[in-house]
Amino acid sequence: MCASYVIIGDGIAGSSAAETLREADPDAEVTVITEEGEALYNRILIKEFAKGKLPAAPVSIHDPEWYADRDIDLQLDTVVTGVDTDAHEVYTHEGDAYEYDKLLLAAGGTPTQLPVDNSDAEGVHHFWTFEDARAIKDSAESAETGVVVGAGLLGIDLAAICGAQDVEAHYLMRGNAWWRYALSEEGAEIIHDALREKGVTPVFDSGVDHFETDEEGHVTAAVDPNGERFEADFAGVAIGLNFNTEFIRDTDIECDNGIVVDEYMQTSVEDVYAAGDITQFHDVILGERAQNGAWGSAKEQGSVAGTNMAADGDEEVFEWVSSYSITHFDFPFLSFGHPTLGDETVERKYDEGTWRRVTLKDGRVIGGVLIGDLSAQSALKQLARSQTDVSGQTDRLLDESIDVEAFQEAAAPE
Ligand SMILES: Cc1cc2nc3c(=O)[nH]c(=O)nc-3n(C[C@H](O)[C@H](O)[C@H](O)COP(=O)(O)OP(=O)(O)OC[C@H]3O[C@@H](n4cnc5c(N)ncnc54)[C@H](O)[C@@H]3O)c2cc1C
Repeated sequence: MCASYVIIGDGIAGSSAAETLREADPDAEVTVITEEGEALYNRILIKEFAKGKLPAAPVSIHDPEWYADRDIDLQLDTVVTGVDTDAHEVYTHEGDAYEYDKLLLAAGGTPTQLPVDNSDAEGVHHFWTFEDARAIKDSAESAETGVVVGAGLLGIDLAAICGAQDVEAHYLMRGNAWWRYALSEEGAEIIHDALREKGVTPVFDSGVDHFETDEEGHVTAAVDPNGERFEADFAGVAIGLNFNTEFIRDTDIECDNGIVVDEYMQTSVEDVYAAGDITQFHDVILGERAQNGAWGSAKEQGSVAGTNMAADGDEEVFEWVSSYSITHFDFPFLSFGHPTLGDETVERKYDEGTWRRVTLKDGRVIGGVLIGDLSAQSALKQLARSQTDVSGQTDRLLDESIDVEAFQEAAAPE
């Protein structure tokens, strides 16, 4: 009898698993269930669409025919409401049940709402789906003033959309710098200047106490905790994700702010795997549990999960140093690995637009941020992957050009 695989989520993790499963097991039944009304698209590109710089067509990756051609059953507009891991069944909002031999949870997350008055007002946007991007584009095109909340990698997309759509915006940040967990003030200053050039003003030690609205319920302003009022007929909120684990509440699958998986993407319950943003995975490079919100890593996790599901065993380990780049400015920006973890950092500003920080744990590179010059990225990622002991030579991680072999030769013997 042929195996049946059910995948919840048609983001890059779910779709990449479906592709891997089909290649590994040509006779299997593969079903992909998604609550979205469209097949896989490039989530990384929806910000360019919202800026008005990219038409809709290139954002799409697969159309429904792609699934039909591979005999993958794609269920659009279908919400999974429950899973019974004893019965090996998945239930949907329409009352349908799907039986599985192996199940993949690749349902990602949903943006967290600001717990303040009027955060659900018209004109206040969260950003995750192509649908969100269409609404953001429409709203930003007609807005004159805006606020953005959330000083991280998604917040800056909303700020850049304001800049591109000529919305005069204030970017309200909690601390004294953008992404202060990964950048020092000196590094962040390069980003602040670039935002100002786009007409977006960073405001520090701020945030939103509440939004004001007009009689129709449309946002008109944000008031920060210091009582300062910022006019805004557009607001973008990006303060984090709630992972979509509601539908496994009645199972024994271990969750801890995401679904806990081992290095094979297997959950604590037999025949159930998870991949992508939703996972708390065992990072073999870091040597501890970690989480990652990046396209490349979600794609690789989906593929590793698919391989292990089809093999019915521990065939492939997830071992990956992720990258995340920002393309809003006229200089490059890249973060890699886990720049916000670790026990030591070294950093340097080379000139007005060039900065580097490398993050270490136990004398080994685990992540970093590069601004202006990305030429060291491959060497630094190689050092992270090989877990080379660089203690005693950490300053050399800031050399303009990095000689990986020299580090490896000089590494302290185990
Ligand atoms: C605006 C934006 C910009 C980004 N930019 C970058 C970037 O530059 N670089 C980078 O590396 N990463 C970027 N990311 C992050 C990257 O897109 C994600 O890490 C990646 O898409 C995660 O893929 P995933 O498959 O794990 O989850 P998702 O893409 O979130 O897919 C999960 C799917 O599951 C569906 N689902 C959820 N619950 C259910 C349910 N109950 N029933 C059925 N279906 C359900 C969801 O609707 C969704 O379609 C960006 C993200 C956003 C939103």
